[in-house]
Amino acid sequence: MATTLTPVLSAGWDTDRSWTLAAYEASGGYAGLRKALTMAPADIVTTVKDSGLRGRGGAGFPTGMKWSFLPAPDGGPRYLVVNADESEPGTCKDIPLMMASPQHLIEGVAITSFAIGCHHAFIYLRGEVVHVYRRLLRAVEEAYAAGYLGKNILGSGYDLEVTVHAGAGAYICGEETALLDSLEGLRGQPRLKPPFPAVAGLYARPTVVNNVESIASVPSIVKNGSDWFKQMGTERSAGFGLFSLSGHVTRPGQYEAPLGITLRELLDMAGGIREGHELKFWTPGGSSTPIFTAEHLDVPLDYESVGAAGSMLGTRALQIFDETTSVVRAVSRWIQFYKHESCGKCTPCREGTFWLAQVLARLERGQGTSDDIDLLLDLCDNILGRAFCALGDGATSPVTSAIKYFRDEFEAGTHTPADVLFPPERSSLF
Ligand code: NAD
Repeated sequence: MATTLTPVLSAGWDTDRSWTLAAYEASGGYAGLRKALTMAPADIVTTVKDSGLRGRGGAGFPTGMKWSFLPAPDGGPRYLVVNADESEPGTCKDIPLMMASPQHLIEGVAITSFAIGCHHAFIYLRGEVVHVYRRLLRAVEEAYAAGYLGKNILGSGYDLEVTVHAGAGAYICGEETALLDSLEGLRGQPRLKPPFPAVAGLYARPTVVNNVESIASVPSIVKNGSDWFKQMGTERSAGFGLFSLSGHVTRPGQYEAPLGITLRELLDMAGGIREGHELKFWTPGGSSTPIFTAEHLDVPLDYESVGAAGSMLGTRALQIFDETTSVVRAVSRWIQFYKHESCGKCTPCREGTFWLAQVLARLERGQGTSDDIDLLLDLCDNILGRAFCALGDGATSPVTSAIKYFRDEFEAGTHTPADVLFPPERSSLF
C-alpha cells in the first residue's frame, strides 16, 4: 500500500494567518501543554523516550534519552536551547515551520522546559532570516500575553522565560557547541566533546540542545501518547517528519510523511521530475550526506535503510538533480560553501576544504590533471574523522560519493569544461 502524507506540524499551514496564536488555539493548540502540566516531569520524559522520537536536526539521536542524560538537579539553573540555525545547503524545513506555525515550537519549548526543570529557554535563530526573527518575537509575545509563558503558567506555579536570539549568520553556529559559545557572546567555534551539553552546556550548566522540528513534535506526542507516534514510521525510526523536496521536481515543497517513505513515493506526490527530464542524482539529507542516484529511488527514508545504502538520512532535504546538471559543478559549489564556512579552528577542515575547492574548480574548468581524482580522495581521507566537528566530515560526503557514482564526469574534467558538457542554460540550478 502506498504511504500517505501525515500532516501534523504542517496541518494548519494553509489556514488564514496560520502563524497567529488564535489560529493555533482554534486547531487544538496548547492541549499538549495543558496535559503536560498535570503530569510529573519524569513521566513526560518517559513518554518522549517511549515514542522513539529521534533528533530531527540530522543526527537522529534519541530525544528522550538526551533529556534523561541531564544530571540530577543541584539547585542551579539548567537550560533548553533550541537550535534554529538551519543552514545546511538544501535544508529548508525549520524556517517554513517557524513562519507558518511558530506556536508549535513555543508549545514544545514550554513542555520540554517543564519536563527537564528549565526556567529559561533560548531559541537560537540563524541571523539572516530577519522575517523569521520578527515572527518568532511576535509569537513569543502572544504566548506570554496568553499565560503560556512567563510566571505561573496556566496557574500551575511553573515559571518559564523564553529568549529568541538571532545569530550573526555563520553555518558553524549550527554545530551545537559553537552555538552555545555564540550565545555566550564568544566567537562561534566548536568545543571539545565530551563533556556533552547535557552535562556542561550553556554557561557550563546542564543544557538540552534540540532542533526546532524535534521540539515542535513534542506537543503532539504528549497530547496523543507515545503509541500514536510509534504507529507511524518504522520500528527504529518512529513517527513523521518534514521531507523538503527541491530542485528539478515539478512541485517542490514540504511533504510531511512517515519516516520510511521512499523518494519514488514522494516524487509521485510531487508530480515527478520536471517534464521531459530524468533523475540523475539527489541528496537524502542535505549536502553533508552522500549523494544517491536513480538506483536508490526505493530506499526507505529511515535512519537504518539510508545508512545501509551508504548515506545518511540527515535533515531530509531531498535536493533533486536531473540529467542537465554537472555533478562536478554541483559538488564544486557545495565545497565552496564549506570552504567559506569552515571556522578555521582545525587544520584538516580549514586547509582540506580550501584544497578540495581548488581541485574541483580546475576540474570544472576542464583543466584538471590525471592525478586529481586520487588527490580529491586523499584529501577527503585526511579530513574524515580528523576534523574537530561534523563540518569537515560533511564536506567529504558529496565528493567521495560523487566520484563513486560519476567518476567518468570527474575524468572528463581533466580535458572538457563542465560548461561544454552541461551548458548552464540547460540547467535551472547552479
Ligand atoms: P552527533 O551525533 O555528534 O550528536 C547528536 C546529538 O546527540 C548532539 O546533541 C549530542 O550532544 C548528542 N549526543 C551524542 N552522543 C551523546 C552522549 N554520549 N551523551 C550525551 N549527548 C550525546 O551529531 P552533531 O555533530 O551534533 O550533528 C551532526 C548532524 O548535523 C549531521 O548528521 C547533519 O545532518 C546535521 N546538520 C544539520 C544542519 C541543519 O541545518 N539542520 C546543518 C549541518 C549539519
